[in-house]
Amino acid sequence: MSQTRKPDWLKMRPPSGRRFAEIKRTLRDRDLHTVCEEANCPNLGECWSGRDGPGTATFMLMGDRCSRGCNFCDVKTGGMEPLDGDEPANVAEAVAEIGLDYVVLTSVDRDDLPDQGSAHFARTIREIKERDPSILVEVLIPDFRGDPECVDRIVDARPDVIAHNVETVERLQWPVRDRRANYEQSLSVLERVDETASIYTKTSLMLGVGEYDHEVYQTMGDLREVGVDVLTFGQYLQPSRRHLEVSEFVHPDKFDTWRDVGEEEFGFLYCASGPLVRSSYKAGELFVDALLR
Ligand code: SF4
Ligand code: SF4
Repeated sequence: MSQTRKPDWLKMRPPSGRRFAEIKRTLRDRDLHTVCEEANCPNLGECWSGRDGPGTATFMLMGDRCSRGCNFCDVKTGGMEPLDGDEPANVAEAVAEIGLDYVVLTSVDRDDLPDQGSAHFARTIREIKERDPSILVEVLIPDFRGDPECVDRIVDARPDVIAHNVETVERLQWPVRDRRANYEQSLSVLERVDETASIYTKTSLMLGVGEYDHEVYQTMGDLREVGVDVLTFGQYLQPSRRHLEVSEFVHPDKFDTWRDVGEEEFGFLYCASGPLVRSSYKAGELFVDALLR
């Protein structure tokens, strides 16, 4: 049964303040896009401010049109445009100007490009690290259709965390994701990272798309088997009536339970879990906290 009325725990506060305005201006001036703004992310105020320092933002690389069309995602499909060769340096300069200490880079899928955009991703990581090696860089990468050479190109650029989202349990990959995505392929991407480098790996699951508890358990086991370090759980929210319906609004207590199960039973380095948690939710703070534990 679908549920469309949002419970109170999903009410969002709009972001505000000087820091928010400064970051927004820098992004506008450089014609850059963040997932934080494009997806109207509920955590924007928290992530951009950080706790003790400059905070986290998620940059969207390679345009705003995707070669795929997942049924949960609001990004436009098709009409792919050529890459902007200046984007890697432009992003790196913006990161320095804003003074972020943890950056997340993600992208649309670029199945239309011979290397699926992997070299562009790698260049952006290098541009950021060359300017300031102390900035922690997390990349949220596509599945690159499972091509190990594309994954290796990212690994060679030495980000600190490589994330790739399995999004949901095995049974629901379709209809949740585009037909070109699948569970095994995504696990192989995460495993490839873990095999080749001492880089942390991370993935995310959306809850409320029709999954059963035993399937979530199974997925956590599969993820640990391929060496995934960090797992996040968030509530799926339907972007429009054209998209997949929400099957359930999962109670915040249940999100807490999944966090405890993930950390205590399965041994993830950390699990961020809550209705409004997204893959990059306070990624810098939580990552550093977990390493210091
Ligand atoms: Fe959205 Fe990513 Fe799916 Fe493209 S591949 S439609 S950006 S979720
Ligand atoms: Fe941006 Fe991710 Fe934080 Fe949302 S959760 S504001 S997308 S960094």
